[in-house]
Amino acid sequence: MRRVYLDSNATTPLLPEVLAAMQPYFIDTFGNASSMHHSGQHARAAVDHARESVARLLGCTANELVFTSGGTESDNLALFGVIDALPSTGEKHHIITTAIEHNAVLQSAQALSARPDVELTTLRPNAQSLIEPSALEAALRPNTRLVSVMLANNETGVINPVGKLARIAHAAGALFHTDAVQAAGKLPINLAGEFTNVDLLSISGHKMHAPQGTGALFVRKGIRVAPVLHGGTHERQRRAGTENVPGIVGLGAAADIARTWLASEGPQQVAAHRDRLEQTLLNKIPNTGINGAGAPRTINTTNIYFNNVDAEALLIALDLKGIALSAGSACQSGATEPSHVLTALGLEWPRARASVRISLSKLTTDEDIDYAAETIAATVEHLRSIS
Ligand code: PLP
Repeated sequence: MRRVYLDSNATTPLLPEVLAAMQPYFIDTFGNASSMHHSGQHARAAVDHARESVARLLGCTANELVFTSGGTESDNLALFGVIDALPSTGEKHHIITTAIEHNAVLQSAQALSARPDVELTTLRPNAQSLIEPSALEAALRPNTRLVSVMLANNETGVINPVGKLARIAHAAGALFHTDAVQAAGKLPINLAGEFTNVDLLSISGHKMHAPQGTGALFVRKGIRVAPVLHGGTHERQRRAGTENVPGIVGLGAAADIARTWLASEGPQQVAAHRDRLEQTLLNKIPNTGINGAGAPRTINTTNIYFNNVDAEALLIALDLKGIALSAGSACQSGATEPSHVLTALGLEWPRARASVRISLSKLTTDEDIDYAAETIAATVEHLRSIS
């Protein structure tokens, strides 16, 4: 059976070049990067090299990166790390985040807000699913310590005006974190340019063709984060634990590939595939629309609703025909509740339940798009006819 993978916001496969870069570090050069001897030095050099690669992708310096086990850990380290590093003055610490964040940020913020000295404000998006600068301005308080707003949403692909939001947070004396897990490798990120006011930024390897269980947190020079994991002095005392050398090498290789790809025609090709799929589905299927349409979106993502179709039934039927996509985010699959992101957009329950996320990658082909468009249209029509 033909298999078409359209769930790249959940995870992406390793690129062969990434696997090839990692391979020596499992057996031949297996050292602990903290060891003094030759093997250790070799591993350390590989980690340093990968750090430079990730720094080039993000426009920061290598010392500003902390390697982690992925997006979830990076987000936890950003939020808990900033709050735990604050001196206790007896004053309450105010945090601002948004209702459309990934649970890694939302749940961290909520866990922090259970502390007696932390207050939390959760901003809602506008109808286009964007976090508006005016909403942030209105929520800032003299004791706001940290603002966390994601760069690209994992479900709709909508891109928030993070450069502007970070400037506003700074003007009020607050630090700014962004979860860029769904943006890294898909759109240019320049921490020395547009994002110069961003203090902390999370990325995850497996969303950009590096291995699962790898990631990094950018921490701007001079910003203090208390470690979440306690132990050795790894990662300049910000993240204890023996480095995952092959994984980090994979992340570095994927970062190099992404940087070259971003400067090529590649992103336009992915956008053209996404737009063609969207247009074909909108033309072929009545009572269909895009959630987040009209807002700037990542090139690979569409969140589309087919009225009077149950998204879960559609996913199952499509899976039987070899097409993989998702309803809500991967961590919520199996849940019967509609996603918190779609609910935050103000979507009524029937429309949220009828929405699916289709996410492409640079590996998606023209033939994949043809097969997906035809099969999705036929399956929606069939499900409607029997409902
Ligand atoms: N943040 C966003 C926006 C995500 O989409 C994800 C994963 O889906 C994460 C964080 C968590 O990343 P990881 O799977 O690497 O823990």
